[in-house]
Amino acid sequence: MQLFKGLEELRGWRKQQTQSIALVPTMGNLHEGHLKLVDLAKRYADKVVVSIFVNPMQFGKNEDLDNYPRTLEADCQALAERGVAGVFAPQVSDIYPRGLDVQTVIEVPQISDILCGASRPGHFRGVATIVAKLFNMVQPQYAVFGEKDYQQLQVIRLMVKDLSLPVDIISAPTERALDGLALSSRNGYLSHQERQQAPQLYATLQQLQKCLQHGEEDAKSVLQDGAQQLTTLGFKVDYLELRRPSDLQVATPDDNDLVLLVAAYLGTTRLIDNLQFARQP
Ligand code: AMP
Repeated sequence: MQLFKGLEELRGWRKQQTQSIALVPTMGNLHEGHLKLVDLAKRYADKVVVSIFVNPMQFGKNEDLDNYPRTLEADCQALAERGVAGVFAPQVSDIYPRGLDVQTVIEVPQISDILCGASRPGHFRGVATIVAKLFNMVQPQYAVFGEKDYQQLQVIRLMVKDLSLPVDIISAPTERALDGLALSSRNGYLSHQERQQAPQLYATLQQLQKCLQHGEEDAKSVLQDGAQQLTTLGFKVDYLELRRPSDLQVATPDDNDLVLLVAAYLGTTRLIDNLQFARQP
């Protein structure tokens, strides 16, 4: 496995490649969820490149950019064991040589301003911009993203469509701990007690799915009760919504494919999760 710490090295390697390449973009501090993306990428392409870059453009001013866990050595070891061809771990100056204030950006309208985008203004601009740049740097035929970050996945799908980018987007199901908590690098911020409470987030989504999948109950009041239940369990709910998957607009009674999305704080840690399901006749 090769480690590229700069863009020039990566480009030199890329020019020599004749086989297909799948990219798995990450911010590092890898867990089994990330590694499952690698396994899936290997099923599509001959070679897998994983990028590890904590992207300052997608963090808000008061967010955890400085404290975000950076574990490059352990990450590289795990990726080498998983059969990855290359790791691209650039410096911020390599990615944003002119500085963030004057960087050309990519805006995916509408979907970027709702849900997580409403609470984290500019977040999806940062995500779309770095992913587009990584596509141009690595030039993969495939790129793999986790359904755990469902809105991010759909933002990227729309960006690829709008800009006619020659990359197939593959999605991987959310990898969970045995108690149901979606694996996340941010789970490491949870105290022992918060970690015990955290699985209730997904348990609540599963419970709401049961109420909503036959379409008889009033979605608005089911969601209100769900949010109230999470509050009682100790969460500070940012949003709990039922949306249609393609553009994450509010689901109507005619939509059969649905996704429940939640963001909630435990202490200072913001957790997100989602559950896709089809309305049963
Ligand atoms: P991150 O390092 O958090 O930016 O995540 C990098 C990629 O891994 C994104 O496509 C995420 O959606 C994906 N990912 C993170 N956690 C999980 C998980 N528990 N299951 C599946 N994919 C995940």
